Formats: sequence, structure tokens, C-alpha cells
Amino acid sequence: MTVKQIKEEVMKLKKETEATILAHYYQPIEVQEVADYIGDSLGLSRLAKEANSEFIIFAGVDFMAETASILNQDKHVLMPNPESCCPMAAFLIPEKIKDYKKEYPDLPTVVYVNSTAAVKAESDVCCTSSNAVKIVKKISSEFNTDAVLFGPDANLADYAEQLSKIKTIKMPDKGHCYVHSQIKPEHIIQSKKDYPNAKVLVHPECIREVRELSDVVGSTAYMYNTVKNSSSTEKEFSIGTESGLMERMAQDFPDKKFYLVMNKLVCYNMKKNTIELMKYVLEHLDDKMFEVKVPSDIAKKALIPIERMLEFS
Ligand code: SF4
Repeated sequence: MTVKQIKEEVMKLKKETEATILAHYYQPIEVQEVADYIGDSLGLSRLAKEANSEFIIFAGVDFMAETASILNQDKHVLMPNPESCCPMAAFLIPEKIKDYKKEYPDLPTVVYVNSTAAVKAESDVCCTSSNAVKIVKKISSEFNTDAVLFGPDANLADYAEQLSKIKTIKMPDKGHCYVHSQIKPEHIIQSKKDYPNAKVLVHPECIREVRELSDVVGSTAYMYNTVKNSSSTEKEFSIGTESGLMERMAQDFPDKKFYLVMNKLVCYNMKKNTIELMKYVLEHLDDKMFEVKVPSDIAKKALIPIERMLEFS
């Protein structure tokens, strides 16, 4: 079967089963094309909560599907490839977060959604790259502190600290995303030389030196909206995030030009969901292998910081 035929089959199966497909901007473009909704972690968390279908197919990585499952315990959340995981989440385990909490008993704990459900269950509030600054400000004011514990991404913690002026104790010091942390200042400098008219947009998971050389720092949804709302004279954009977002924008804004700030900005974990697996999961909705379930005691505890985040943002 060709990709076009598989996509048609997916659309047919989706209609028959009344399943909802949610896809992250980093998914392969053909997976994005069959989705009902495309978005970043925050947008997809909200959509997962609002979805009316019995079956939600989550084309993203494991922590996203876990969050959707925690928010929808009466529905079936399935992942096309259960092996699609985020290596950043492995930087923080529940035992570690408990150690930090013992060392800093008065500080609130902010956990990036790129973490396991068991880690979320130990936190006071979750955040995404869209709302990290706001969440850090809100929770520190609620706890009346001038510092917070923040993990597992040390770069996002640093970004939130810079903008909120609230100190972030990183859990751990070196937690990072392998895709964004490979962007170095020299890539931005070279990109500016190659495309002097392009606005440079990067993700907050990039290191500080990269962020400071760029024109815009924001989540994938923020980057998307920056391009969407740009004037007709702004024609070129250099993108410092996973390549899937650039492919989405190239389709949606054909009058603009896009460049990646460096080659091979690919999250191989996100790309484990393929259009073939989308078709397969829709044909096997009752197969427990694809269903994401968080143990109920952990889900109950993790729901509190996730809902607090949605309420705060
Ligand atoms: S891009 Fe980075 S943070 Fe996002 S899923 Fe991939 S490894 Fe995790």
C-alpha cells in the first residue's frame, strides 16, 4: 500500500470507530495529516480532557499519553508505538525527587510534563514549556518562597528562572533534551549568516547561549503562532526545534520560507509512531498492548499537579 492509501484507510477506520487522534507537532508529517488535533503538550493535555470519544489515539511519546490517560480514566488511551518514549523523563526518578524534597522541605516542586506519572505524583504542580514561567511565579507566590525545585529539564528551569526572577533548584543539574541541547551558539551564528533575513525561533529546552542569540524563544505552539501572526513582509524563519514543526508550518504557510538552524533536528523517539502503526492500532483497538494505563494510586496523586497546571495556565 502507498502512504496515500494507508492514510485513506486510517481516515476510514477513524470514522468507523469514532476514535479521536491527537498528534504532537514532532510527529511524522503523514501522522499529523490524519490527526483531529495537532498541538504542543499543553494544548494536547487540554484537548485530551475535552475529547468525547471512547478511544483516544495519542501520537506522541509515553508521558503525553500517560497524562491523557490520567485526565481520562473512563476512556481508552492508546499509543501507536508503546516504545515511543522521552529520554529526558529518565533524568528524574521518584526516589531522587523525594531526596530533593527532604533537602529543601519548604520549597514547592515543579515538574515538567516530560516526566513519568510516578514523578508527577511527587510534585506540587506540573508545567509545560508554554507555561513554565507563569507556573513558577504562581507556585512560589502561593508557597511564599523565592525559589522552587524544578526538574527534569535544567535548560527550561534556567529559562523559567531568567524570566520569573525566581531561583530554580535543578533536579538534576544536567537534565536535558538530546534534540534541543545539540544546538550550539555556532549553529545560530551560521544560520544568521546563511539566512540574514530570517527570524530565528528556538525552544526553551535549548541552552541559554543559544536562546540569547535568537529572536524568539517559545514552545512549539508559540513558534507556530509567531509565524501565523507574522506580517506579510516577514517571509523567512530559521527554526530551532524538532523538524516536524517545520514540516507542519511549511504546509500551513506556503508563502513563507523555513530553515532548520542545524541539520538533523530529529527526535527519533517521536518518529517511532508511523502511519502504518496508526492503521494497525485502529484495527486493534481492543488489544491491551497499545493501551496506556497508569496504576490508579499513582494516577490519583499525579492528577492533582496536572489539574493545578491546567487551572493556573
Ligand atoms: S524532543 Fe526532546 S523532550 Fe521532546 S520527546 Fe524528544 S527527547 Fe523528549
